[in-house]
Amino acid sequence: MKRYLVEPGKKFKLSERNPEDTGDFEGGKKEGLKAIVELNEKLQTLQELLYAEGRHKVLVVLQAMDTGGKDGVIRRVFDGVNPQGVKVAGFKVPTAEELAHDFLWRVHKVTPGNGEIVIFNRSHYEDVLVVRVHNYVPEAVWSKRYEQINEFEKILAENGTTILKFFLHISKDEQKERLQARLDDPTKHWKFSLGDLEERKLWDDYQAAYEEALKKTSTVHAPWYVVPANRKWYRDLVISRVLVETLEGMKMKYPEPREPLDGVVVE
Ligand code: ATP
Ligand code: MG
Repeated sequence: MKRYLVEPGKKFKLSERNPEDTGDFEGGKKEGLKAIVELNEKLQTLQELLYAEGRHKVLVVLQAMDTGGKDGVIRRVFDGVNPQGVKVAGFKVPTAEELAHDFLWRVHKVTPGNGEIVIFNRSHYEDVLVVRVHNYVPEAVWSKRYEQINEFEKILAENGTTILKFFLHISKDEQKERLQARLDDPTKHWKFSLGDLEERKLWDDYQAAYEEALKKTSTVHAPWYVVPANRKWYRDLVISRVLVETLEGMKMKYPEPREPLDGVVVE
């Protein structure tokens, strides 16, 4: 899955990443969905181990343009995990109280504790994306945030948090189709907002803001993956693989029993 990394310190152009890519996976959608089910079973086991062991913390950051598929990833990739050990934190327009603090205040307090996986549905990156595109704060303020984010994520990493950041990369045409599908289906109207059409007009500004954010904040301790996301099955496959490989790499073990259990009989 290394091919989807944004390599720290290397040149990076978002426009050179193909949202349609299906890598060297030859099976197509049908085989892809099967592979996802297998990975999901592994993920469930690994997550239970993570929870039982209680040593590692895992932070998964999801960012995307509207309709990019953050909700779908949360639903499908994390299907069947133990809700006691996996939480989702969503970041909406900041409240007055949140705006009265620094931009990381609301973020830090929902980061994972030992044994937990926390999924960020949007994140502190909004503060260098939507905020930059709309000039909600002056450039002098947002331009300092890349470094602040790197330092913040370094603190988390050095205190036992594994950070994985995924940008779900869709094309502008794909977004059009997905917005239209939401309009056409009354059960999806709740997901539609006229504001999404206004944001769509700013597509190029957002792509530029994403490109800079991904380039400046992909670090060894908190790398970005640009996930080809036009095909939902491939998007889910890539993220599932990265998660499973990362958790397997932690070499976790179930904790030893609290007391010796040899010869213990349940009467
Ligand atoms: P989503 O679009 O993520 O699926 P949603 O449609 O349920 O979620 P929205 O209210 O559309 O909810 O999404 C949250 C909105 O909050 C987004 O438009 C996002 O850009 C905005 N937002 C998030 N963080 C910030 C921030 N720090 N400053 C300004 N706006 C923000
Ligand atoms: Mg929305």
